[in-house]
Amino acid sequence: MKVAVIGAGPAGMTAGYQLSKSISDVEVFEAGASVGGMAKTIELWNQKVDIGPHRFFSSDNRINELWLEVVGKDYEMVDRLTRIYYNGKFFHYPIKGMDALKNLGLWEAVKCVSYYGVEKINPTKDISTFEGWVTNRFGKRLYQIFFKTYTEKLWGIPCNVLDADFAAQRIKKFSLGEAMKAALFGNSGKHKTLVDQFAYPHGGTGEVYERMAAFVNKQGGRVALKSPVHRIITKNKKVVAVEFQDGIVKEYDHVVSSMPITQMVSRLPEVPANVLEAAQSLKFRNTIIVYLNVEAKDLFPDNWLYMHSNDLRMGRLTNFRNWVPQLYGNENSTICALEYWCYDEDEFWKWDDQKLIDLGKEELKKTGLIGNSSISAGSVYRIPKCYPVYGTGYKEKLKIVEDYLSGIENLHVIGRYGAFKYNNQDHSILMGMLAAENILKGTKHNLWEINTDYDNYQESSVITKTGLQKK
Ligand SMILES: Cc1cc2nc3c(=O)[nH]c(=O)nc-3n(C[C@H](O)[C@H](O)[C@H](O)COP(=O)(O)OP(=O)(O)OC[C@H]3O[C@@H](n4cnc5c(N)ncnc54)[C@H](O)[C@@H]3O)c2cc1C
Repeated sequence: MKVAVIGAGPAGMTAGYQLSKSISDVEVFEAGASVGGMAKTIELWNQKVDIGPHRFFSSDNRINELWLEVVGKDYEMVDRLTRIYYNGKFFHYPIKGMDALKNLGLWEAVKCVSYYGVEKINPTKDISTFEGWVTNRFGKRLYQIFFKTYTEKLWGIPCNVLDADFAAQRIKKFSLGEAMKAALFGNSGKHKTLVDQFAYPHGGTGEVYERMAAFVNKQGGRVALKSPVHRIITKNKKVVAVEFQDGIVKEYDHVVSSMPITQMVSRLPEVPANVLEAAQSLKFRNTIIVYLNVEAKDLFPDNWLYMHSNDLRMGRLTNFRNWVPQLYGNENSTICALEYWCYDEDEFWKWDDQKLIDLGKEELKKTGLIGNSSISAGSVYRIPKCYPVYGTGYKEKLKIVEDYLSGIENLHVIGRYGAFKYNNQDHSILMGMLAAENILKGTKHNLWEINTDYDNYQESSVITKTGLQKK
């Protein structure tokens, strides 16, 4: 059996890794020069950094087992500290009752509680949008302070035209009452937003995928870098081959695709007009990361900060010195990563590197977080199509595309932009695992159902310092 996997990010690399355990004719084609996709680790100024903050967390036993199989003992449990920066103040995130109260001040806190009370008596009825969903759960004032500005920076659209799916997936069952309970009695560890430790490989997040690639090559398969796939060729709703950008065509029995769904569909030879139209209506948001090398060691304690303040264009700020010491080794500086979000058509996406670095320097100094420390270097990394935009109505459009692609039996569509799911690594890993199982064992896992909302139907577990702990 010959299988082609498109993309060497967590989804594609996991599929390739799992397939290589049973068959040798596995080829993973990656457009870029290294593996790991958005979860790769790169070298910068003699240190290692990820593409923005990348913590690994899953409660699914299958995913955790696989992660440990690859990473072995070469990881640390990192205590998570993440805060929100809003109007010159730092709020713990996940929100801690007393800390929030202290930072908000009595008057603002009374306002928040009052609006929360109003919501309980007369709840917002339309909870189909992000704004409605969050207001209904937290009240209008808390929504404005803790959710609105950051969410609008991230998605570039008003929260009242953002689908509630984003809130439902990312905020889960987190409620103000539970946050208060957690503040008073400790964290039950039940909800994702309350997780305060994560597993992190010594060699950076990307080490997982580098090891998977080495395994594929060792098993007789191939991970081909700088090998962009142009299109998948189907005949009578069956995949027959893959065409590369240099025009070469190769035949396969199965194709696993994690290339952007919009691009993949637009280049399929037999697509009906309504499917094409639906795919074209799906939008992605891009990220620009500005890395700055700050000449100091102890700047601020967070792994990353959410920058809610409207006077800053950046949305998130990562401090790579607070992950594991193996990342910075003997260096005495701190690499900070500032994240900016935009669309393809925005002028900002076309800014040159120097202009972006200048903006980053100015904004980082403005936060007061680096004091008088000097910034010795800057570097820019652009990530196109990294956030599938859950605009209102996206679900109906995606369903049309899903239904069509599901009819192509030997095509397996996975991944964050591959399947238009707002995946973290764990979901992409699971998609890759289940795609491999469908190919090898003929199982019928519905890969479209996997996203942050899927229910674990196997045992759940957590990774601890000593390995896997069953729950
Ligand atoms: C800033 C940022 C922070 C994040 N933080 C976290 C976090 O803390 N925790 C977490 O778990 N997840 C995090 N994520 C999400 C995580 O990076 C993704 O879920 C994961 O990388 C998705 O894996 P994937 O394989 O689905 O897609 P990708 O990682 O995007 O991989 C797809 C691969 O396909 C390749 N490709 C595309 N087109 C072609 C083509 N035509 N031919 C060949 N190859 C192609 C790409 O080059 C890429 O390597 C974060 C993402 C970002 C952007």
